[in-house]
Parts: sequence; C-alpha cells; structure tokens
Amino acid sequence: MRVAVFSTKPYDRTFLDRANSEFGHELTYFEPHLKIETVSLAEGFPAVCVFVNDVLDGPVLEKLAQGGTKVVALRCAGFNNVDLPTAERLGMKVVRVPAYSPHAVAEYTVGMMLTLNRKIHRAYARVREGNFSLDGLLGFDMHGRTVGIVGTGKIGAVVTRILAGFGCRLLGYDVYPNDECRELGLEYVSLEELLGQSDIVTLHCPLTPETRHLINPQTIQQMKRGAMLINTSRGAVIDTESVVHALKSGQIGLLGIDVYEEEGDYFFEDLSERVIADDVLSRLLTFPNVLVTGHQAFFTLDALDAIAATTLRNLQEIETVGNSPNELVSEEVSGPQ
Ligand code: NAD
Repeated sequence: MRVAVFSTKPYDRTFLDRANSEFGHELTYFEPHLKIETVSLAEGFPAVCVFVNDVLDGPVLEKLAQGGTKVVALRCAGFNNVDLPTAERLGMKVVRVPAYSPHAVAEYTVGMMLTLNRKIHRAYARVREGNFSLDGLLGFDMHGRTVGIVGTGKIGAVVTRILAGFGCRLLGYDVYPNDECRELGLEYVSLEELLGQSDIVTLHCPLTPETRHLINPQTIQQMKRGAMLINTSRGAVIDTESVVHALKSGQIGLLGIDVYEEEGDYFFEDLSERVIADDVLSRLLTFPNVLVTGHQAFFTLDALDAIAATTLRNLQEIETVGNSPNELVSEEVSGPQ
C-alpha cells in the first residue's frame, strides 16, 4: 500500500524500513505533524500513518477523504487525537497498535517514581559538580507505601506487578476492574478513596471525555498532602495549571510527567536554541521536585520493533482482507479495551 508517514524521525524510518522488508509497502516519509496546514502532503495516498501529536480532527479527516485517503494507521495505542465518528462517517478505517510493549511504559513509570523519590536527577547533576553532600536527597522506602493506580489495563497491570514485587500496598481505580491485578493483591476502591490514601498516584487510563482533567482542583484536594503524582498516560488527564498551584502550596509533593497537555508544540523536537513561550511548561521546569520528560516512556528497541511490525501488518490486513483486529470503531472510546 502507498502510505504517507507523518511525524517521522530518523529512528522511525529505521524501524519501519527494517520491518517493511516483510510487507513491501511503499512508504513516503514526512517529518511534519499531520494537521490542517500539512494535510495536502497526503493527497493521493490511500493510507496515512500517524503518531501521538498528529491532529486528525474533522476538518483534517474531510481533507484526507477528499484526497483519496481511506486508511489511518496510528503508530501508537492512544487514539484521543482522532475524531472517530467523523472517520466512520467518511468510511475511513482507523487502525492502531493496542499493545506494543506495556513493559516499556510501565518500567519507565516506575523509573520516574524512583528518580523522584530518591532524587537521582538531582544527585546526578550535583556529583558532576563535585558536590557529594546528601542534604536534600532524602527519600523513602517504596516497601510498605501505598500506590494508587488509575487505569489497570495493560500498562497499569505491569505497573501493579512491578510494585507488588517492591512490597507496596496497591489500590486501583478502573471502570473495568482487572482480575490479574486483584490476584497481585491490588484492592479496587473509589477514586476518592484512592486519592485520599495513596502516597503515590500513577495514571494509566486513556484520555477520553471522562478522563480529561481527572486531576483537577477538586481531586487534588482529595489527595494526601505531599503525595507524588506520575502521569505517563496523556497530558490532558491532568489540569496542569492546577497541579502547578498544588506544587506551590505543597499539596502535591513530587510530580513526574512524560506527557503534557500542550506537548504538540514542543515534544520530540530540539528547541534548545529557542525561548519556551508556554508559561506553564516553563514554570514546571523550575521546580526541584518535578521531573518532566518528552514522551519517551514507549521508547525502547522492543517497543519500536513491535510498533513498526504491527502498523505495517495492520495496513496489509486492510489492503488484503479489508479489516483488521486492531481496527477502531467509535464505541471503543468509552468501552472496555
Ligand atoms: P488499556 O486500554 O490496556 O488500559 C486502559 C485502562 O483504563 C482500561 O483498563 C480502562 O478500563 C481504563 N479506563 C478507561 N476509562 C477510565 C476511566 N474513566 N477511569 C478509570 N479507568 C478508565 O491501555 P494501556 O495500553 O494500558 O495504555 C494506557 C494509556 O497509556 C494509553 O491510553 C495511552 O494514552 C498511554 N500511553 C502512553 C505512552 C507513553 O509513551 N507515555 C505509551 C503508550 C501508551
């Protein structure tokens, strides 16, 4: 199939080209995001392949359909950036990579917890300056602490397994509880109870209308004072401005985010020569108790191999049999996944 591949970096091309030797698609790479300003690049391509910060809203999908595009292949699990009802109305197939490596994201999540807890990010910089003092680096044992896991699907379940190994007390909140997590000792409670009892809260639910700003001024007040909040899910699951206020007041004690509400303008790019115009992001970068990374939780060899192979197989299935088990329909936005 002829595919216009958007938001590609050299590493994407390496992994897709390698996997494509098995499939033989005709891949044309474009570095920019897919959005209304760039959609004309896709004209005449039966398929587009996109990533997390490409914009597939109604106007973009309409333009794609006018240009002859019939398939959207997401190189990711989350699909909050696609207007699925419009895609369906236009007769477009949308496929995704539902599970490329839950381990990649789960292991990174726990890495963020340990870094923030034991202040490894600060120790790294300090020691390189010849400062071997331990002042300000005091952490706590993970063993025995309570961790609240919001969203216990594929990634949340691996986080549960790792933290069970640490001897943490585990609380979960999910609209569809997972027996595998229960067997690991996780107890399902209401969101309010989870927030009130957890020393660490970690978010693993998708971004949907129900989860947008799940962490907001009201739910922040329900959290244990000084707790750690980790978000490797999607930026808009937290209302970042209210989290900044909570960091200033001490209500949130530690924050680790790999995703940010407005990340589309910044993440995956080297902007080190430019001024960051986003005041919320700039403010976050000033806190010693905040760790921000640029959407890298998925970024392992294993995950990139799996993403490339599944994406190209999805396209092959659509081309040859007309459907794929990884196809999205609009009900999935609120159904079990
Ligand atoms: P999944 O579908 O297996 O699990 C999501 C879980 O969230 C499900 O159990 C679902 O029932 C639950 N959920 C849905 N709505 C909810 C709600 N309103 N309240 C509580 N729980 C709710 O997905 P996954 O593979 O575990 O991935 C989770 C999310 O992680 C993805 O949607 C994506 O946004 C994000 N992600 C981030 C990265 C990264 O690199 N940072 C990589 C992959 C995925």
